[in-house]
Amino acid sequence: MSTLTHLECSLCGETYDAGQVQNLCRCGGPLLARYDLEKARETWPRESLREAPSNMWRYAPVLPVRDGGAVTSLGEGWTPLVWTERLGRRLGCDRLWVKDEGVNPTGSFKARGLSCAISMCAELGVQKVAIPSAGNAAGAMAAYAAAAGIEAHIFMPRDVPQSNFIECKAAGAKVTLVDGLISDCGKMVAARKQAEGWFEVSTLKEPYRIEGKKTMGYEVAEQMGWELPDAIFYPAGGGVGLIGMWKAFAEMETLGWIGPRRPKMIAVQAEGCQPIVRAFERGERTSEFFEGAETVASGLRVPKALGDFLVLEAVRASGGTAVAVSDAEMIDAGLELAGDEGMFAAPEGGACVAALRKLRESGFLRKEESVVIYNTGSGLKYLEAYSARFPRLTAGEADKLGGLITPR
Ligand SMILES: *Cc1c(COP(=O)(O)O)cnc(C)c1O
Repeated sequence: MSTLTHLECSLCGETYDAGQVQNLCRCGGPLLARYDLEKARETWPRESLREAPSNMWRYAPVLPVRDGGAVTSLGEGWTPLVWTERLGRRLGCDRLWVKDEGVNPTGSFKARGLSCAISMCAELGVQKVAIPSAGNAAGAMAAYAAAAGIEAHIFMPRDVPQSNFIECKAAGAKVTLVDGLISDCGKMVAARKQAEGWFEVSTLKEPYRIEGKKTMGYEVAEQMGWELPDAIFYPAGGGVGLIGMWKAFAEMETLGWIGPRRPKMIAVQAEGCQPIVRAFERGERTSEFFEGAETVASGLRVPKALGDFLVLEAVRASGGTAVAVSDAEMIDAGLELAGDEGMFAAPEGGACVAALRKLRESGFLRKEESVVIYNTGSGLKYLEAYSARFPRLTAGEADKLGGLITPR
């Protein structure tokens, strides 16, 4: 079913065989999967999606797995695109949707990337995988590795959300907590992988996670009747979801599924970790390591992204922009989304709502432009972040506030 042909370096263009495990190009650039889209154009009309499964594997011809038996799926993708009229009214936006990635298996869109990468590991015979993660990627890797019967080694910052630590342990992964950032975790994996025989599944250091993530782009087109919105808000850590969607749009144009029009791609970051926003504002091609990165949006705590140049390219080519919001703004906006629409979002999703407010106020976006916000995860994975607003009270404290009722 897959029309995968080869891998191609996003920096120097060198090509590689896709039928074996690959990390980066010799030049250090990330490798991207390439497909025979001309053939797919003839054999895979978009109408055939009517019979396709209700998960991201509905796009199997443009996913890399060739052996159907290797597909490791927990039902990821094909998430709801929710029409959010009340929130739109509040923000002065006539046409607003939220793509709710929080309903994915493991509670974030990371399920897409890891379903794809672990399926490829299963196909290529990889037995041990390792990952540095700011949180949700670890949880997703642990789950899919368990489902595929592959050994998982996880390195994550000591202060990740507790949900991430527990979900990894529950799935039987070997977890190392690191007193540092995801960048420090990455160094530890790099130092040990050779001796341990681990295949490293760091984002963009292997070519297949982005392929899973790109299905967010296929879905938004299909769900909107093959007419992309005017703007897409994406909370960018490594920015791989954004790069992936941008790649999906180009593929879909070659397939004849959409025209050349593209949404303004808006990369949203946290004030406490905004390397891409800084680089965008300074007109630079790559970002600089962001010292002292700190934010409750753990998915955005990436001080230097390997694919920063691809994110910046896509944002600029689309006529989009990059915006930073504070932690308080993202939590407030997350609560507005929950209160208006019933969707309890990750702070990363809240960050996009806060960024939309800023861009409406600045006039960057007009009222009638159609907007899709990606809520990349479930608020239920971030109880520590939200509990600052709703602390758990002792019986004595609740009593003092008059809120405690003792049943007789
Ligand atoms: C990982 C993560 C992000 C950032 O994803 P990238 O595509 O790597 O930028 C955003 N939100 C959540 C909830 C995440 O887990």
